[in-house]
Amino acid sequence: MKNTNCCPKCNSNDIIRVNGSNRAYGGGNNIITGAFSSVKVNRYICCNCGFTEEWIDKEDIEKIRRSSNPKG
Ligand SMILES: [Zn+2]
Repeated sequence: MKNTNCCPKCNSNDIIRVNGSNRAYGGGNNIITGAFSSVKVNRYICCNCGFTEEWIDKEDIEKIRRSSNPKG
């Protein structure tokens, strides 16, 4: 969906991207990786059927890996 710009459920290409956001106190669409850090979760929504997918930017994946596996 992110790469094809096409809904896997209904094959519509009426896809919109909603960027994640980091807001204070756990607001916004994100994953908390530490006391003062979080990564944004971007959402792709099919306007035809309502299916959604969530994607995390590649550079943020390392942050999650480090926070979820402290031993490295
Ligand atoms: Zn769809």
